[in-house]
Amino acid sequence: MKARSLQSLLTGYSNSDQDMIRAARTFAEVAHQDQKRKSGDPYISHPLTVAQYAAGLGMDAETVAAALLHDVVEDTSFSLDDIKNKFGESIAGLVDGVTKLGEVDYNLDENTHSTRHATSVENLRKLLLAMSKDLRVIIIKLLDRLHNLQTLQYLPLDHRVRISEESLAIFAPLADRLGMGAIKAEIEDLSFKYAKASAHELTKRLVATRKQDSLRGLDDLKQTIKIQLIEAQLSIVAIDARQKHLYSIYKKLQKTEGDITKIYDLVALRIIVPSVQDCYQALGILHMHYKPLIHRIKDYIAVPKPNGYRSLHTTVIAPDGTILEIQVRTQVMHDEAEYGLAAHALYNMHKDTKAYRSGKQTQLAKPLWLEDLAQLSNTKQSFGDLVEDLKIDLFQDRIFVFTPHGDLYDLPEEATPIDFAFAIHTGIGLRAQGAKVNNRLVPLDKKLENRDIVEILTKKTEAPNRQWLSFVKTAQARTKIKAHFRAQSKTSNTAQGKALLEQKLKSSGVLKIESIPAAMLHDVIQSFNQRDIEGLYMAIGEGNVNVVSAVRRLIPQVHKPARPKAISGEITGRPVVVGASELPCTLASCCKPVPPEAITGYITRGSGITVHRLGCGNIATEQDRLLECEWEMASGKVRNIYLLKITNHSRVGMMRDITAIIAALNINIVKSTSIENEIDQKYSQIQCLLEVGNPMLLTLALRQLRQIKDVVSAEIVDS
Ligand code: MN
Repeated sequence: MKARSLQSLLTGYSNSDQDMIRAARTFAEVAHQDQKRKSGDPYISHPLTVAQYAAGLGMDAETVAAALLHDVVEDTSFSLDDIKNKFGESIAGLVDGVTKLGEVDYNLDENTHSTRHATSVENLRKLLLAMSKDLRVIIIKLLDRLHNLQTLQYLPLDHRVRISEESLAIFAPLADRLGMGAIKAEIEDLSFKYAKASAHELTKRLVATRKQDSLRGLDDLKQTIKIQLIEAQLSIVAIDARQKHLYSIYKKLQKTEGDITKIYDLVALRIIVPSVQDCYQALGILHMHYKPLIHRIKDYIAVPKPNGYRSLHTTVIAPDGTILEIQVRTQVMHDEAEYGLAAHALYNMHKDTKAYRSGKQTQLAKPLWLEDLAQLSNTKQSFGDLVEDLKIDLFQDRIFVFTPHGDLYDLPEEATPIDFAFAIHTGIGLRAQGAKVNNRLVPLDKKLENRDIVEILTKKTEAPNRQWLSFVKTAQARTKIKAHFRAQSKTSNTAQGKALLEQKLKSSGVLKIESIPAAMLHDVIQSFNQRDIEGLYMAIGEGNVNVVSAVRRLIPQVHKPARPKAISGEITGRPVVVGASELPCTLASCCKPVPPEAITGYITRGSGITVHRLGCGNIATEQDRLLECEWEMASGKVRNIYLLKITNHSRVGMMRDITAIIAALNINIVKSTSIENEIDQKYSQIQCLLEVGNPMLLTLALRQLRQIKDVVSAEIVDS
């Protein structure tokens, strides 16, 4: 990042903005008057550089002023109120945001990594809130961090290491997520040196050995390509060669196991053309002249990277055998790749400097993921959950694993081969049946390590396992597995429902569903709130529609609530033991039961069976001597007996409420029992055997019963 002098940049701003920036500079100079940086420079050099960077990115005047003032509250005797009074709420808000971010204890200690202290979690929250309030705060903070890294050599060694590690873990990913590629690269390279000193040395030496090779002939090749594009009538905005930044080479080296000759994009040629169409045209022309490596053609224009990065990438073989990566993009894509969100400010600067810098546009559009984070920090979820969610995104360490072909995938720590499989492709994830890590068969729940080479063994058909859900780490894998089972259960439920209905229809004498008149079928389907027959099948398969009631509606002749239990005859007045009517019984003299009172038999000691009213006090304690009894029926008249089943929340008075309704309709309760649900004590079931002369009364009874408080369901079942 290059800083232009503040004075030269001032020219782009309106007169009043220039005055404000100058005032901020003076204020900062006075505030930091007697302070020096560790380098020995006057302190003002730091905020001045940060402000110059901000101006260089085309940020608005408020951001530039806030950059000048960003350390005043933290490091001088001036307060936020002083800034507010002099520069207003907006600039004070920015300074406050940056100051708060400075207080965040990013806490990267190994031992606190998994169990963050509540305080640092609170700080993370502050970080998020600050971020979501105004992105300009984050941009100032990134530029602040950048300059601190640039002057890191003046700090004690342990500070250098801590700040570098923190920058690699938090600030580089942050810049990346904001699409600020240039700043991310610089933060990474500056941190790399101290955070991983020996790896840094090694990478540098490896690159030095290759650089001559890769640069040799590159200039000629560049000229040739330029001519080839121009001959094809393509206009070129810029064409230049650039070396990949050191830290990204280091990451690539992990993928090639330290073999630098396998890194083809050590140096890449970047071609900038006027339009998207030109990008594709340029790619075509390149491929006409040079053979591309087919698996390295990447269309990030059609499918941008998650942070919005767009470009066409191809790797071609030059006539002399050099393998070269070429990136083709437009100027807009290029600015976005380098400066991310700030790029939008840049366009405006390119377009109409005065208008933009007049400070009209101060709010940058927020990327979606940042909105998500903002929501996250607003919700009332526990700090623990917040950290969990965050880990997935920004703060969790990532591991880098490779396909046998060397394609790199970054996954969260503790990711498994299943996560890897889904990261490659949903189809591979769903068909996974085994995995080799570094050429050895491993269980699918093995936790992958950095630099593992993972090969997924697949079967022909999709057959994921529900158990995978218990160990996968990525949301991607989890979502895809769940979606699969949802879809699958949909098909299998439909098939099951269809089979069930066909079977029931068959046993009711209808051989095929097709023999039911279409109009009637349609009505029945609609009566179950389904769109089509498939929907009805699925509802039956899922258990949402009772197959019996479906059949009843489909076949008019069995269209009855339930087949009544036909008992012939009238009550004779003689009690009989159920299932043993030959046993002699006598009516008890204590309670003198009369038909149709519910009765029970009592086995006496030595004088046979006496029949009492159900609930008679004399026999209440003698449960194991009781026998089920009923009144004998004389043959002739048919009684309509139905079994009513009521599921309810147990409460006092439930039975009373039920019998009141039934009695009011003049329905005879032949017998009633209450069964506690053993699995769930909250529910109980009441069963009543009802004698109903007119079945219409039954419908009425059901309707009223269902309205009783605490009744869950009331239905007539086949007794
Ligand atoms: Mn600072």
